[in-house]
Amino acid sequence: MNLNFNEKVIHVNDETFEILFDELTIQKRVKELGEEISKDHMGKVPIFIGVLNGSVIFFSDLIRNLSINCEVDFLKLSSYGDAKISSGNVRLIKELNADIKDRDVIIVEDIVDTGLSIVYMKSLIQPQNPASIKVVTLLHKKEATKYELKLDYIGFQIPNKFVIGYGLDYSQRFRHLRSIYALKSTME
Ligand code: 5GP
Repeated sequence: MNLNFNEKVIHVNDETFEILFDELTIQKRVKELGEEISKDHMGKVPIFIGVLNGSVIFFSDLIRNLSINCEVDFLKLSSYGDAKISSGNVRLIKELNADIKDRDVIIVEDIVDTGLSIVYMKSLIQPQNPASIKVVTLLHKKEATKYELKLDYIGFQIPNKFVIGYGLDYSQRFRHLRSIYALKSTME
């Protein structure tokens, strides 16, 4: 299969994904988020916690748009596996290495769907007594979110559709696409 970075539509077996945000739109928004976070943390050195694997692309672009100093660390949670629907369970696969006591922590997520992962991560991080915990997510499926959550920085609100690209996978593939694509429903 040949993947063209400028593709507007991607076919995976008998499913069709249509472009939702192109590379320029994403880069512009990530730059704005970096600037906003820098402004809000002037004079501080927050620890950015990336959630593996999905947030890696967003994470690396986001921190390169910061004008403040920062440190980084990563957590890994169990994923959807190969499915397109959340299993409703989260498990910790890789824990933090950094000492986050009295530090300003910023969790970096690719997408908030039901919100379970964020609730779970906060419950892991809070007992380590950080000075603050904030969340930045590139995408938010507001209609799908079932938990009471404070998302401090949101890149884009999106409809409740399965999306791929820019870190987000379909059966572990397509993370390297520069744009974000949404699964076309069979009703459309
Ligand atoms: P939540 O715990 O909020 O339900 O789900 C968060 C995680 O589920 C994300 O970090 C991501 O790994 C995965 N996820 C949720 N929605 C999608 C989606 O539309 N596409 C992909 N590829 N992963 C998703």
